[in-house]
Amino acid sequence: MSNQVNGISKRLIVESPNVKLVDGVLESKFNYRKNHFEHRADGLHVTPKEHEYSFKTVLKPRKTGLLLVGLGGNNGSTAVGSIYANQYGMTWRTKEGSNQFRHPNCHCAPWLRLGAQNQIFVPFKDIVPILSPNDLVISGWDISNSNLYDAMARAKVFEPELQEKLRPFMEPIVPLPSVYYPDFIASNQGDRANNVIPGSNKLEHLEHIRADIRKFKQDHELECVIVLWTANTERYTDVRTGLNTTADEILKSIGSNEYEVSPSNIFAVASILEGAHYINGSPQNTLVPGIIELADRHNVFVGGDDFKSGQTKFKSAFVDFLVSSGLKPECIVSYNHLGNNDGKNLSEARQFRSKEISKSSVVDDMVKSNQILFPDAKNPDHCVVIKYVPFVADSKRAMDEYICSIFMGGKQTFVVHNTCEDSLLASPLIYDLAILTELASRVTYKDGDDYKPFHSVLSILSLLLKAPVVPPGTPISNAFMRQFSTLTKLVTALAGFPSDTDMQIEFFTQ
Ligand code: NAD
Repeated sequence: MSNQVNGISKRLIVESPNVKLVDGVLESKFNYRKNHFEHRADGLHVTPKEHEYSFKTVLKPRKTGLLLVGLGGNNGSTAVGSIYANQYGMTWRTKEGSNQFRHPNCHCAPWLRLGAQNQIFVPFKDIVPILSPNDLVISGWDISNSNLYDAMARAKVFEPELQEKLRPFMEPIVPLPSVYYPDFIASNQGDRANNVIPGSNKLEHLEHIRADIRKFKQDHELECVIVLWTANTERYTDVRTGLNTTADEILKSIGSNEYEVSPSNIFAVASILEGAHYINGSPQNTLVPGIIELADRHNVFVGGDDFKSGQTKFKSAFVDFLVSSGLKPECIVSYNHLGNNDGKNLSEARQFRSKEISKSSVVDDMVKSNQILFPDAKNPDHCVVIKYVPFVADSKRAMDEYICSIFMGGKQTFVVHNTCEDSLLASPLIYDLAILTELASRVTYKDGDDYKPFHSVLSILSLLLKAPVVPPGTPISNAFMRQFSTLTKLVTALAGFPSDTDMQIEFFTQ
């Protein structure tokens, strides 16, 4: 474990009796302190409790392949191009200065503040080994047959000079043909669909995608494969008994060519059956109960839904701040306009509805968690509007108004304007989702007799996702810093030392 600070190489050496390295496996013990609360007739009882956890982490990252569904989209082409730019140290100029060269600057997989006093920041990779984006072997599918050079030009994300430098790497990459059922994405996407797997038999489509995954794994001698949906937002699919509420139902529904089985359902099931982890970067409800049960049956991770990149990321930190500081959000109105193909697809009602649901759910847990500010558990009025404005292309505009009730019946209004290049926010999330999933696949834990893997629904990915899917019966956490702390505390626990309590007691007890 090494770290660069001011050009000086530092090794992180954990001096703790709670950790040892045995044959390339880090074995750590972690004392999890969690107070237990119980409402009784005489009041709220609190009992401090401690739970002993042991972790085993295989230290060497596995050779990992990432298959993107929607490879030729703005996110897909940006994610691939950025890796080449990084691998080959490409530089490029912008109109802002002909002599000022830009460099790839991938700050993926967060860093961690280890010590309050000395402000020591250490990247995750120096605490527990993880993959670099450069290590990922990337391929994927798209219903459009554009090669990635054309896709990158269509996306208008990279500067022209960088596009030309990337051309020799991007032009030879043509996405694999994909599954296309027009009813699931907007009708305005039809003219893009020139690269589709023929026929209408869903079982044959499933077998086709399974064969693609197997071939990719064999061709590149991969130890771990992750399939990630970054294709168009689909409409919601029905969830009902007989269709997809159990693993057997979803398999049977594919076999009987049920209309309500979506392309993303096909990809998720194909991945699980091939032992590949599946992540949903879009808002639709791909991870129906039957798919979650299937993942559990095959010990495969699934994660979702919808990348948490711009407006929602801010909202999930800001609303937590408002609630924590006693300002009661009463009304949140969010306007967005964007001009990329994602915006075009979302301009139809059913696809917009999927996005509206994932964007709206982000404040729910913060409201539910605070019965003092929200005694009736009534959510603030929360309205989300998205408009397609082609001229702004990938540069998305988001405008939010937050109105809070404050002291003595007063009001405080915050207005936030946010301009962001959407795919430049989403691509690092794609890498982080893959990198953390691969890390999770190397970890087992024990809180009783036997070591076991994490739950198939990989909720530690929640930090990176708008509407986190969590194991059945567990609470959803949307608050950004809470999610961040879950992840950072887990990483230090794997390395055998607890995160600082960070009470700063030493400063006021001198
Ligand atoms: P995009 O429209 O540029 O790319 C989507 C690609 O998916 C297109 O190339 C399209 O041809 C392809 N596609 C559609 N259906 C397919 C299928 N069945 N199989 C294979 N390919 C298919 O969109 P984008 O900007 O890259 O965004 C991708 C997804 O990520 C969208 O659902 C979007 O809502 C979601 N998302 C993006 C961000 C962000 O910041 N960019 C944030 C959150 C969520």
